[in-house]
Amino acid sequence: MFKVDREKCIACTQCIQDCPVRVISLKDGKADINNEGCIKCAHCIAVCPVDAVSSDDYNMDEVKPYNKETFTVEAENLLNFIKFRRSVRRFKNKPV
Ligand code: SF4
Ligand code: SF4
Repeated sequence: MFKVDREKCIACTQCIQDCPVRVISLKDGKADINNEGCIKCAHCIAVCPVDAVSSDDYNMDEVKPYNKETFTVEAENLLNFIKFRRSVRRFKNKPV
């Protein structure tokens, strides 16, 4: 379940604008999530500038804030990584 800490929420509406299924709205001046239609994409957690959104569907200790130093991938390294990938093509004769 995704929830908003009303103490932290500054009603910037970024989560509302980013939610792909439009289940967040302002209620009494704070963001409010209708979990019934939520697809658990966690965009709301990612975009909130004040860490007001959390979920017990994820281990929140694993949610890392963007850090240029540790998130940057050199274009050449990324290209090599993509080229190096191989799919498995030894198919088994049974239904997927
Ligand atoms: S997890 Fe995704 S679908 Fe659910 S409220 Fe957040 S942005 Fe919307
Ligand atoms: S992004 Fe965060 S601060 Fe902004 S409205 Fe949503 S919960 Fe509130």
